[in-house]
Amino acid sequence: MIIAIDGPTASGKGTIARALAAHFGLPVLDTGLLYRAVGYQTQLNHGDPDRVTDALAACDFPDSLLDDPALRFESTGSLASRVSVHPQVRAALFQRQVDFANQPGGAVLDGRDIGTVIAPHADAKLFVTASAEERARRRHAEMLGRGVEIGFDAVLADVLARDARDTGRADAPLLRAPDAMLLDNSDLDRDAAIAAAIAFVEGKVGRRG
Ligand code: C5P
Repeated sequence: MIIAIDGPTASGKGTIARALAAHFGLPVLDTGLLYRAVGYQTQLNHGDPDRVTDALAACDFPDSLLDDPALRFESTGSLASRVSVHPQVRAALFQRQVDFANQPGGAVLDGRDIGTVIAPHADAKLFVTASAEERARRRHAEMLGRGVEIGFDAVLADVLARDARDTGRADAPLLRAPDAMLLDNSDLDRDAAIAAAIAFVEGKVGRRG
């Protein structure tokens, strides 16, 4: 069983992906991490994330980079959204994601183009979202909790900039697949959103969990 989860930044899609993977006993891939690794490797190479040759050269990052805590930084998310605009970068990361999706037994993947490009044949697709203000509020609270001093307006501006870049790019923009369940969790807490996601997948593929 392949479960495809897409949605904008800070929508909670990673939390839902991990919960579904645990519930159904499937491996999970956070595909954003691959783009974050390319963005961060570009910076390590002193390259320019907006220049395709520099971003492409960073696609052969070492696997160990995926464990680097720096990939979680807000600044790395911005680098990722810049390198992910280049079709050549998306092509370089394509097969790795497809192979993960198609492994025996299935998998859960979350990202921006899983249900549309990487696994259009997925058994269940979810598009997880929340209002930009709510996503910024959650991210702001999480950053303050980590001791990062930043104002709400700056976080909201970053969320909006990421949304614009992810939805506005020509290649594989952030898009709800027509057959994806829309899960807007603006007014749902974590457990309610997870329960809704599990119920949807079970309804789609039958109870296997
Ligand atoms: O999901 P996350 O915030 O970690 O993703 C970082 C960036 O990587 C996104 O803003 C997006 O531009 C890019 N990305 C993408 N396609 C994916 C996953 C992430 O373009 N499947």
